[in-house]
Amino acid sequence: KKNLIVFGTRPEAIKMAPLVKEFYKYPEKFETRVCVTAQHREMLDQVLAFFEITPDYDLDLMRPNQNLFTLTADIITHLKEVLEDFEPDYVYVHGDTSTTMAASLASFYSGSKVCHVEAGLRTFDKLSPFPEEMNRRIAGVVSDYHFPPTDKSEENLLNENVSRNQLLVTGNTVIDALNFSSEKVNSKDFKDEEIEGLKTSIDASKRIILVTGHRRENHGQGFINICQALSNIAKANPEVEIIYPVHLNPNVQQPVYDLLDGISNIKLIAPLSYPAFVWLMSKSYLIITDSGGVQEEAPSLGKPVLVMRNTTERPEAVSAGTVILVGTDVLKITQETERLLKDSTHYKEMSAKHNPYGDGSACKRIVKFIENLA
Ligand code: UDP
Repeated sequence: KKNLIVFGTRPEAIKMAPLVKEFYKYPEKFETRVCVTAQHREMLDQVLAFFEITPDYDLDLMRPNQNLFTLTADIITHLKEVLEDFEPDYVYVHGDTSTTMAASLASFYSGSKVCHVEAGLRTFDKLSPFPEEMNRRIAGVVSDYHFPPTDKSEENLLNENVSRNQLLVTGNTVIDALNFSSEKVNSKDFKDEEIEGLKTSIDASKRIILVTGHRRENHGQGFINICQALSNIAKANPEVEIIYPVHLNPNVQQPVYDLLDGISNIKLIAPLSYPAFVWLMSKSYLIITDSGGVQEEAPSLGKPVLVMRNTTERPEAVSAGTVILVGTDVLKITQETERLLKDSTHYKEMSAKHNPYGDGSACKRIVKFIENLA
């Protein structure tokens, strides 16, 4: 069976890398090739290096002032050549990016079977998150096989009339990636300059609040509010250190550096490589983020998460009590952070280690499922 695995951004690479590695274990059964659209460049390359994956096709599509129209058109037209060259039986896409949506459509045009990993997540609000909710819905319609991570995402697909024999609940592949990463980072011969650098620059006597953010719907006023809240928290709690690896998107960089640079207990740093980020998560007291992947990883590390969004396609962690939605409301972000800093019973409740997103065997399940198809 011929497999083409397509991805373009950092989170997709993290979540698809373990699937690539799992397929590579069975060369006699699968010919597996990797195509990156490189919708993100630097942040994607860091992940490829860590997982030691060399793409067979690199469309290198990141452009200055990239927009959704040209990006989508570029992915479809460039992927056509790859699909004609390799003629895959199965194309694997992940989640909800422009790469996911455009690659699933291109693969449908070319007659390959489309397999959607991390399928069935929904907010049921087509404008939020934008454009992700629509990207994943389109990929869902186009796909032949669906790999929802949880029962809830399975239920969403069944409600959209996907038939049971076209789907399998697998858990999220992000946990497979996290396990791979922890094992590699803890192995004797692993040396990472970034982790060593963090060890020397972080004040271990302080409680670390780790912050990340990038969502398009938070650009503008959302990020201004987030920065205001972080500034309040830092000033009111000198015993706390806020560490913020700032996403490379200029809509994020500009407000964050304008409003937070120079506050003594806020460290603005470049995005971290995946292993360094996982290491820093494990050293943090709490995490404030709008990221999907971070919400899924944090429960495995026993870290509470405040999510800077109003809606979520990941209700499982909210129900499990490890995540609270705080939106981009200055007061709410500040109050919930203060509560976690001061109320130890509440903190303990939110740091339970049960992870509703998976057990680290998602990729094995996907490979078995494909192997068993006629
Ligand atoms: N991550 C990383 N370096 C960073 C920040 C995040 O490697 O500086 C990882 C993180 O562990 C998670 C993924 O990137 O696996 C999340 O990516 P992002 O927040 O960009 O996207 P989302 O998950 O919201 O789609």
